[in-house]
Order: sequence, then C-alpha cells, then structure tokens
Amino acid sequence: MHDLPIDGFQTAHHNAAMVLLVDDQAMIGEAVRRGLALEENIDFHFCADPHQAVAQAIRIKPTVILQDLVMPGLDGLTLLREYRSHPATREIPIIVLSTKEEPLIKSAAFAAGANDYLVKLPDNIELVARIRYHSRSYLTLLQRDEAYRALRVSQQQLLDTNLVLQRLMHSDALTGLSNRRHFDEYLELEWRRAIREQTQLSLLMIDVDYFKSYNDNFGHLDGDEALCKVAEAIRGVCNRPSDLPARYGGEEFVLVLPNTSHGGARLLAEKLRQTIAALQIAHVSPQPGARLTVSIGLATMTPQVGSQCRQLISAADKGLYLAKNNGRNQVGID
Ligand code: GH3
Ligand code: MG
Ligand code: MG
Repeated sequence: MHDLPIDGFQTAHHNAAMVLLVDDQAMIGEAVRRGLALEENIDFHFCADPHQAVAQAIRIKPTVILQDLVMPGLDGLTLLREYRSHPATREIPIIVLSTKEEPLIKSAAFAAGANDYLVKLPDNIELVARIRYHSRSYLTLLQRDEAYRALRVSQQQLLDTNLVLQRLMHSDALTGLSNRRHFDEYLELEWRRAIREQTQLSLLMIDVDYFKSYNDNFGHLDGDEALCKVAEAIRGVCNRPSDLPARYGGEEFVLVLPNTSHGGARLLAEKLRQTIAALQIAHVSPQPGARLTVSIGLATMTPQVGSQCRQLISAADKGLYLAKNNGRNQVGID
C-alpha cells in the first residue's frame, strides 16, 4: 500500500510514532525516554512546561501525546480541553498519565477528551503497545481524511470537465453559437413549454445571400470569417437569456425567441438584417460593389397540444423562401 503525503510529512512507515510527553517532572521524562530509546520508529519529545504544550504539539505534530494530569500552574484536564478545541491538535490521541487508579479522575479525563489512561509509570511493553496502537489509528485517520480530500478535488475536476464537455458538445466549432443538436433539443423544450403555458414562440431562420459566390470569389477562409461576423451580429441582437442563436448548418442560422410576439420578433429580425448590412462586408453578388446581406424567414406560433415543432421550422423556412424570392436582404413572413 502506498502512503499518502499527510500534512506536509510523509508517513514512510505506518508503524512510525511521534510521541510528545508533557510532564513537569524531568525524571518521568527521562524514564520514558529511556524506555522508548531502543524502540524502532518512535521519536520522542519532552515538554516540561504545560503552558508550552499546545504550541509544541502544533509545531512537532505528534501522533500521540502522553499527558500528565497534575502539574503546577495548569490543570491537566484544562489542557486536555485545549488540545481538543484547537483544530491542529483536535484529533491527536492523548494517553493520560496519572498517579493513581481513581475512577473519578479517570472519568473526568475521558470526559475532557483523553483516549487512554495509564498509571505512572506503566510497564514499558504496555506503554509501547499503546503508543503504537494509538499512533497507527491516528495515521489511518489522517490518511482517510487526505483520501477524502483528494476524492473531493477529483470529483470537482470531473464536474468542471463535464461542464466544458457539455459546452463543447452544444456548440458549433466555427462560430461558437449553439449547434444543430442543441438547437433541436432547445426548440423541442421551448415548444412544449409554450404548449403548457400557451405563450407565443417565435423563430427566425437566417440565410446568407449569394454565399456560394462569396466563397467562390474570396475563398473558404474568408467565407468562414464572414460567417463568424454574421454569427456575432446574431448573438448581439439576443436580449434575453432565453433567446437562443444557433448555426443550423452551412451558412444558415436560426434564432429561437421564446415568449416573443410576432411584432417583437419582426422588429428584432429587421434590426438584425440592418446590422448585418451595416457591417459593410464587401461582396460581388448580386453585382460588383455589393455588400453581404442576409434573408430572414420569420414565424410565430402559440402551439396547440399534440402539435410538433417541425411546424414552426417549416413556417420560418417558407418565410425565408419568400424573402429570397422577393429579392433577398429582407424579412419574409409566411
Ligand atoms: P442564396 O442567396 O440563395 O442563399 O444563395 P447561396 O449561394 O447563399 O446559397 P447556396 O445554399 O447555394 O450556397 C450556400 C453556400 O454556403 C455553399 C457553400 O459554399 C457555403 N458554405 C456552407 N457552409 C460553409 C462553411 O462552413 N464555410 C464556408 N466558407 N462556406 C460555407
Ligand atoms: Mg443556404
Ligand atoms: Mg445562402
């Protein structure tokens, strides 16, 4: 099993322990130090000043604290509660070293946050066994927390990636507008909403005039650039978040306008037509010196139950056909 890096240090050995003994008596410190000296992978720190205990614990990050209960100037139980209230020491296992086997003291110690209780000085075999046991479970806890944190991070990355993917899946590579697939889904949803709420749904179908000759004259790259400018203009006339501009295919675009009346859609279509003409993109058709224009088909419906959104598309298509037939660069209505 691979150990995860924890809080800046690597737990090279799951068996490793870092002991902090807090006791005002140097003699106890010496005795424990000697007892642990020959043990592998147990580092020992001694703190004789209880007022320094929490700060020292934060600094050396012990995997277990051996804590004396009776010290001058600071009550051991108070110190236990201090460890427990500090985020950096909250989870560190604490073995209380008491002078006596006394149920009242014992239960007070556990209530204050101790994990274990030993009477001084314990037999070395027992002390080492408990130190190793508590250290190991603490390290396991840290590893679990770290694993959860890593899991949360990768879950978030997955969500972000999915958002990006969804955007890519929905968008047209050339213009960045919605693509045909997204348009189909969106129109279907808005059609059903309009049936439920009995609201008007408008659709513009926009087709660039004489675009084949534009390509033939200026080349496909310039053609693509012109399409991007048209797309930008379409995006620009969308005022509401619910308006959806999309590339329908080739040099044809659509604009879904939920909750929009015929009059409102007509104004918008006319504005769009003028905006594109005002871009003054040089063209050679229908005659030299012409500017690039679009024809727009417009349809508005309040759909009835059981009807299909194909109706709206085909009505806008007819409008477009009329606009083309009547001389292009205009809005046509079936
Ligand atoms: P109309 O005024 O009747 O719409 O004439 P048109 O030439 O625009 O119509 P037609 O549908 O015959 O030609 C469309 C042309 O659009 C064909 C193709 O050269 C061009 N086209 C379609 N998709 C793209 C594209 O992604 N990039 C470029 N550069 N041109 C495209
Ligand atoms: Mg076309
Ligand atoms: Mg065209």
